[in-house]
Amino acid sequence: MVNSLSDVEYNYKTICENIEKAALSVNKNFSDIIFLAATKTVDVETINYSIDLGLRYIGENKVQELLSKYDRYNLDKCSLQFIGHLQTNKVRQIVSKVDLIQSVDSVKLAKEISKQSKLYNTVTDVLIEVNIGKEENKSGVMPENLYELLDEIKDIDNIKVKGLMAIPPICENKQKICKFFDNMNNIFIDIDSKNIDNISMDILSMGMSDDYQEAIKCGANMVRVGSALFGARNYNK
Ligand SMILES: *Cc1c(COP(=O)(O)O)cnc(C)c1O
Repeated sequence: MVNSLSDVEYNYKTICENIEKAALSVNKNFSDIIFLAATKTVDVETINYSIDLGLRYIGENKVQELLSKYDRYNLDKCSLQFIGHLQTNKVRQIVSKVDLIQSVDSVKLAKEISKQSKLYNTVTDVLIEVNIGKEENKSGVMPENLYELLDEIKDIDNIKVKGLMAIPPICENKQKICKFFDNMNNIFIDIDSKNIDNISMDILSMGMSDDYQEAIKCGANMVRVGSALFGARNYNK
């Protein structure tokens, strides 16, 4: 069942409190952490209600769904981002509409984003998605290929790498998932220390409904929360 708006309000406040607690435990503040709501399958009314509550970042997974909602989002105060797997032939449809594409994992995709951004006379910010669990059939660049990818992307115009994103494997306990978060944080710090031109490590996007507090404790400064805010997703609406 999808939550009622009052459930969403309650959840929103609870998540903000949890984010703040986790942030304080690692000497950060609530304002250091970006709370992005993953809005797949969520209707625009509920999304806009959440924006009224204070939500400032939303992320969609599917190009088609994003386009179908695009005219109705209230984006005056809210950033719209793309967090799902992105096919090269769909880049054209979202460049200029989204503030950040979190799921770049190939030179081919980066080049297409560059090409389309040029047409709009804009620079598109991106994160590199890392397949930190080295799972087959999952998107994201393998950790061992990450530096080579960054080396190629750094010279591409109209695209700017702002950090890293990861979706770790499903883990049976929190300790296991923290290992993946720690690995990501170490990579993030290592790349940052190399001061590569055109590559900045501002955003480490990891942690979802079940583990965003752990992710923050391991260094995430952006969490992507869906069901904990909006309730279980209904894909057959
Ligand atoms: C759906 C989704 C989330 C949020 O998942 P929940 O477990 O519902 O919080 C986060 N990131 C991505 C990329 C997603 O597709």
